[in-house]
Amino acid sequence: MRPSLLDPMFASIRSLPGVGPKVCRLLAKILNIDPAEGEPCLVDFLHFLPHSVIDRRNRPGITCAAAGTIATLELIIDRHQPPPGKRNVPYRVFAHDDTGDITLVFFHAQHNWLQSQLPEGKKVIVSGRVERFNGHASMVHPDHIAMLADSESLPLVEPVYPSTAGLSPKTVAKAMTQALRRMPVIAEWQDKALLQREQFPGYREALSTIHMPDSPAAIAASCPARRRLAYDEFLAGQLALALVRLRTKRLSGRPLPLLGTYLESLRQNLPFRLTQGQEQVFAEISQDLAVPQRMSRLLQGDVGAGKTVVALLAMAQVAESGGQSALMAPTEVLARQHHATIVSLAEKAGLKAALLTGRERGRERIRILDSLSKGETNIIIGTHALIQEGVDYHNLAFVIIDEQHRFGVHQRLQLTAKGNTPDMLVMTATPIPRTLVLTAFGDMDISKLTQKPAGRKPVKTATLSSSRMADLMQHIKHALVRGEKLYWICPLVEESENTDLTAATERFEMLGQQFGNLVGLVHGKMPAAQKDAAIADFKEGRTRLLVATTVVEVGVDVTDASIIIIEHAERFGLAQLHQLRGRVGRGDKPSSCTLLYKEPLSGTARARLQVMRETEDGFRIAEEDLHLRGEGDLLGTRQSGIPGFRLADMEAHRELLEIARQDARLILEQDSDLKSPRGEALRLLLYIFRRDGAIRLLRAG
Ligand code: ADP
Ligand code: MG
Repeated sequence: MRPSLLDPMFASIRSLPGVGPKVCRLLAKILNIDPAEGEPCLVDFLHFLPHSVIDRRNRPGITCAAAGTIATLELIIDRHQPPPGKRNVPYRVFAHDDTGDITLVFFHAQHNWLQSQLPEGKKVIVSGRVERFNGHASMVHPDHIAMLADSESLPLVEPVYPSTAGLSPKTVAKAMTQALRRMPVIAEWQDKALLQREQFPGYREALSTIHMPDSPAAIAASCPARRRLAYDEFLAGQLALALVRLRTKRLSGRPLPLLGTYLESLRQNLPFRLTQGQEQVFAEISQDLAVPQRMSRLLQGDVGAGKTVVALLAMAQVAESGGQSALMAPTEVLARQHHATIVSLAEKAGLKAALLTGRERGRERIRILDSLSKGETNIIIGTHALIQEGVDYHNLAFVIIDEQHRFGVHQRLQLTAKGNTPDMLVMTATPIPRTLVLTAFGDMDISKLTQKPAGRKPVKTATLSSSRMADLMQHIKHALVRGEKLYWICPLVEESENTDLTAATERFEMLGQQFGNLVGLVHGKMPAAQKDAAIADFKEGRTRLLVATTVVEVGVDVTDASIIIIEHAERFGLAQLHQLRGRVGRGDKPSSCTLLYKEPLSGTARARLQVMRETEDGFRIAEEDLHLRGEGDLLGTRQSGIPGFRLADMEAHRELLEIARQDARLILEQDSDLKSPRGEALRLLLYIFRRDGAIRLLRAG
């Protein structure tokens, strides 16, 4: 149960003045809170930081106020001039100070309101943008008006929040002031030495500083208040992950030693030698499986690095102790691909591997499920069909999740729940920069496959303006004559999948006119059987130019395809371009990638294409991607269930993350149940940052 001390922080924002259903909805929208999760709470609102400020400290007097600048002026109101009936003529109010005259201008104004706000003969203070016409100063709709006596209410440094249509800055400001007032006094959860060293203010003080800044510098990412909040957010995340890790380790798994029964014959039947990297990674996994503690490991390896084979070896080891393994892939194409790679090798070694996706139905499905629950199936490969109800395992001891970032964390948990504390391996082809690994997978051990299988040639990458389409057609013609296989990736159309489709079919027709029935087409909207047929045609060479939407992004493995053309490459992200390029260069032929772009290129698009030309190193590409995007949505954080950061800025606060990680480990070493006074305060931190799932673990563990 959440301590009642925090109740005010978790009250709905509806309890704030001026926040009714409509404002609540708008705020939920900019706070990125799904209506299904309920109304935003005060804590969500308080963690909503201004992105800039309007500086109203400039009080130059009318004559010295430069045109176009924001100024705060102390005025004496001289005279009102309501419009003579016509609607498009503004209401004017004439005023002066010691230095000169100014006209305040209002369109569609309520006369009563203006007369009460700006009474003739009275001193008022206004703030807004000063304009000049023929030297005469005016201000259209001042942002703020106050009687001189209430001038305190006028914010001299006004925070500016991300906004949306229909939400007025004043409404937000008023609600924020109240929200700050309602914050309870909370015990400090950070280490005193750290606070001193970093000059961090308290949590409450930091929020006040940022929502009521006294200078533009007060909200900068580098100021102590912002850094303090970023650190709080990092520490909450790292502490939650460390708790999960502690608890996973405590829950003992089972020993699955390497016996050799299946592995020997499996190795003998491999059509290639494992690379040194594969051997190394397998050794790490093998050891994890052998010990009684539960494995929780992330296997990072670039596209084509050969992760699937490593997974197969590990699954064979598990089968040696009678355990079942499940490999879950994000798409049906990928699941089938894995199954195709694995099934024949497995069977030669005496292992039974089966496939389960949405497409296995009726009798076939019953047979698969039956064999699985009886324990006859050693290895099951599939999509999220594997976690559906009614899929029962005999002894699920090992779970492998491929392309993890496409699954939610809860799906990962759902699959492990099908077994009795199974070991877990997550494979990802998206090279994840270290900072993100820490935040998203801080609870896991990490293995990396950096080397590619021997004999792979680099992929030559070139960029080409789409105005040179004719040259490209010649190039394709020659390649087809030489007998090569090519992918043509169709543009990503933002608006809808249907437009993606149109683009692909149109391109297919156009290429078909030139190259006849050598051209194939595959897209996401095709019935599954047709998709398989199109991929099979290409694999077996009946077609040799495959037009595709990004369905080939993951998993399609046609080793002798040597050329990939990516149309409108400027619309793709770096990670995606890298994944796509990974479709070629899998065999021993020299291969190439043409990035076809349409001018004019934006600065970032140009930079992305440049990175692609310069390197094939997935890790470097991932770092550059992070850099170019500036924010950590590399993993598609929304979908993945990995919470994005609200307070921390990955670029600016990166170094704090590492400190938070060490801090979290240290905390749990000294106080694994968070029982000490600081531990109690840290529990509050976990609630405030909505990591209280980890507190439930504390109780259960
Ligand atoms: P990943 O899953 O890491 O993208 P895969 O496991 O699908 O990579 O391997 C890509 C291709 O490389 C497959 O065709 C696979 O058979 C092949 N392969 C894997 N390991 C080796 C190796 N050591 N030597 C040669 N080819 C390999
Ligand atoms: Mg793979």
